[in-house]
Amino acid sequence: MTESDKVARPGFTAQIVHADRRGKIEHGSIHKPVHTAVTYAYDDARDLAAVFQGKQPGYTYGRQVNPTVTALQDKVTLMENGVATAAFATGMAAIGTTLFSLLRRGDHVISSAFLFGNTNSLFNTFAAQGIDVSFVDATEAQTVAAAIQPNTRLVFVETIANPRTQVADLVGIGNLCEQHGLIYCVDNTMTTPYLFQPKTVKASLVVNSLTKYIGGHGNALGGAVTDTGNFDWSKFENIYDNYKTGPASLWGITQIKKKGLRDLGATLGPEAAHHLSVGSETLALRMERACTTTISLTRYLAQHSRVKQVYYPGLTDHPQFDRAAELFRYPGAIFSIELADGVDCFDFINKLDLVICASNLGDTRSLAIPVAHSIFYEMGPERRASMGIADSLVRFSIGIEESEDLLRDFEQALG
Ligand SMILES: *Cc1c(COP(=O)(O)O)cnc(C)c1O
Repeated sequence: MTESDKVARPGFTAQIVHADRRGKIEHGSIHKPVHTAVTYAYDDARDLAAVFQGKQPGYTYGRQVNPTVTALQDKVTLMENGVATAAFATGMAAIGTTLFSLLRRGDHVISSAFLFGNTNSLFNTFAAQGIDVSFVDATEAQTVAAAIQPNTRLVFVETIANPRTQVADLVGIGNLCEQHGLIYCVDNTMTTPYLFQPKTVKASLVVNSLTKYIGGHGNALGGAVTDTGNFDWSKFENIYDNYKTGPASLWGITQIKKKGLRDLGATLGPEAAHHLSVGSETLALRMERACTTTISLTRYLAQHSRVKQVYYPGLTDHPQFDRAAELFRYPGAIFSIELADGVDCFDFINKLDLVICASNLGDTRSLAIPVAHSIFYEMGPERRASMGIADSLVRFSIGIEESEDLLRDFEQALG
């Protein structure tokens, strides 16, 4: 045993709240400062050239690099126990830029059919641009296996799907991707790295919408993709020769940063990065609170006569209850309900007082949204039916209010 093995690895929160000052402290500042400069000056033009050529570390231009954003990227890498992270202006930018950078015309993607609405829309846009996409039921690895083609490059799943809370066969699909040398991209937004690290099920890349739980306060947009170190990029044929320098573990993220961030420019701003970074310090505390409250609320709602069905992986009648219990620290803080016949979903939402009618999730405040009439409206009734989205479905994102207050609010709104 070496000396460093004896030192216990700090806990999740201890690592995050001390992450900035472990780096090079600027003026002893315990937060990474908000660096607003767009460009970086060099006294010696040779240094600038060396930085541009990747021969020397340093900053060039704000579309690609910024010290405040780098500090946040490093925190997400710590949270996911990965090797490197690229941050973006939004979660959608993270997903879109990653696929744009790594795939080429004629490649095939297998995606879970149970998908965040905007990701579903994005994948259909990719399909229109010459990337073939198959949507399959990812709750069973066999359906993913059956969809693999010679040109398949990447499999995309969400941990807990939004809004119906299906839990993907995360372990089975991880094994499959490993066998077939496919990039396994897991959207961890609903679980966050506090509840689950996709690296443990062989994920290659992990997506987090930082807008949601990691930022946690509904005051800044951001997204990230983290390379877990599991994927062997030296065997991936879409890496450009220019980026095959240095350790192969970094080729994927380098190409995402160069081809994606630099060429497309969906860059995270330093002010947003600062908000997200401060928010991330309390991720574990907020998740503990929100998940515990969600468990009691869903138990109450499941036995209520005016509620037809509650979808939450923490309820024993959920089809993937065992899987969620095995993989996740908690079954999350998102659930949805179908109301009993005759109960109007708009009237019910309007009666809620503490729970705000709004899109977004992972806020400190509890939020409710009539799914079929809002975020899943554009895809139409057929695709909604295939995703199990009833007209009366209401999705909740539970915040950090006191659970008794939320329970009372649901009681009066259903009364
Ligand atoms: C919100 C969300 C996204 C997109 O994130 P934005 O920051 O809003 O662009 C992606 N995936 C999931 C699961 C989400 O909930």
